[in-house]
Amino acid sequence: MAKFYVTTPIYYVNDVPSIGHAYTTTIADILTRWHRLQGDKTFFLTGLDENSQITIKAAQKKGFKDFGKYTDEMAEKWKKAWKELNISNDGFIRTTEPRHKKVVTEFFEKINKMGDIYKGNYKGLYCDSCEAYLTEKDLENGLCPFHKKPPKQISEENYFFKLSAYKEKVLAHIEKNPGFIQPKTRRNEVISFLKGEVKDVSVSRPGTDWGITLPIDEKQKVWVWFDALINYVSGSEGNWPAELHLLAKDILRFHCVIWPAMLMSAGYELPKKLFVHGFMTINGQKMSKSLGNVIDPLYLKEKYGLDAIRYYITREISFGEDGDFSENGLKARLNNELANELGNLVNRTLVMIEKKSAGKIPAAKTDEGLQKKLNLKKIEEQMEKLELHHALAEIFSFISACNQFVNEKEPWKLKGKELDTVLYSLADSLRIISILLQPFMPSTSEKINQQLGVKAAKLKECKFNLLKAGAKVKKGEILFKKVE
Ligand SMILES: [Zn+2]
Repeated sequence: MAKFYVTTPIYYVNDVPSIGHAYTTTIADILTRWHRLQGDKTFFLTGLDENSQITIKAAQKKGFKDFGKYTDEMAEKWKKAWKELNISNDGFIRTTEPRHKKVVTEFFEKINKMGDIYKGNYKGLYCDSCEAYLTEKDLENGLCPFHKKPPKQISEENYFFKLSAYKEKVLAHIEKNPGFIQPKTRRNEVISFLKGEVKDVSVSRPGTDWGITLPIDEKQKVWVWFDALINYVSGSEGNWPAELHLLAKDILRFHCVIWPAMLMSAGYELPKKLFVHGFMTINGQKMSKSLGNVIDPLYLKEKYGLDAIRYYITREISFGEDGDFSENGLKARLNNELANELGNLVNRTLVMIEKKSAGKIPAAKTDEGLQKKLNLKKIEEQMEKLELHHALAEIFSFISACNQFVNEKEPWKLKGKELDTVLYSLADSLRIISILLQPFMPSTSEKINQQLGVKAAKLKECKFNLLKAGAKVKKGEILFKKVE
């Protein structure tokens, strides 16, 4: 049995889930469900970064003295949001959990034993919001490129990880494994970074009470990024190495340079693949709290239905690239592709079977011309390459072909065997469409199954003529209501 272990980055616990967080997590959910359909053993991990200094500031601002109480409350909100967004994660990791602290401590000790930790003085730039050390080269007009604010000058004694000692090894691994970092543009970015001067990184911070105590110096805490990355091991429940890490481009260097080096030093296997996606803009603008355009996915769910959002963000954005979210775009796809194409196909098929076939699946075989319109192999290849937008487009091209088939055959004019063939072909095709859509739109798929009177199936049942004749169908509510 093949294994599929996928991760999202862990999110800051003091945030609230935005459409941006929902995007990455939904993609991980879709991929996991796809692998479940294939019969693979899956493990889908998401979680929360709680040891950050940002967490304390947020807790203090809200008047909490007990930071643990604050993170407990916030963590419940995240878990609830993921449930409401139908995210089927297998694991959930919080970096304040004892199981995480234990693994971080062991991890650090392993690296230290390798001789890759040394004490030194850090003098340089630090961005509070990134919680990361920056170099002059990283800045844009003197500002942190992600937070548009000047970094602090700091000078402190802390411990360093010999990242420079792993530069060649990481580079060799990336060059030997073309699929390790994707897409290609990001891979090239990492390669060119590694070919330049790579400095050792500071992995501890003095003078804070919050976080994981450095095993070799109790006056210091583990640098939050060093701690956070280890969640992929500490939360893996025995599934390490991950088949896939999903991440956005602003955390590329942590994941594609520092993380592989940490794993090499500590003697762990490397993840199989890191996939870097772009940023989501809102109506063409960067999403940010200061602009006040952060969209709550639960608000969208209320307004448009969850599956419409899952469909829209997957179909609209070429996975890997930057993409724009707009409510108008969502409405257009909901009205055209979901209501007019998919919803209409389900509705007209069920209406005809109820009217013309006494609500039962007639005995027939699926039209061979229609069968040829489904390119299952292409869809499977696109999913394997993480081209989710293409796979979804391919599934919908088959849905359009089914609608066209109705228009051409004009079943309202037919009777007998010819009519039965059309009705059977449509119901059998819908059964297959429902399997293929399950990862993308799980509740829609379930509704289609209920109407057709079939059970949820696996990918291997995406073969024509498996629908049983004589089964009773039951037309349900319209799947997608159009919005103005
Ligand atoms: Zn920053």
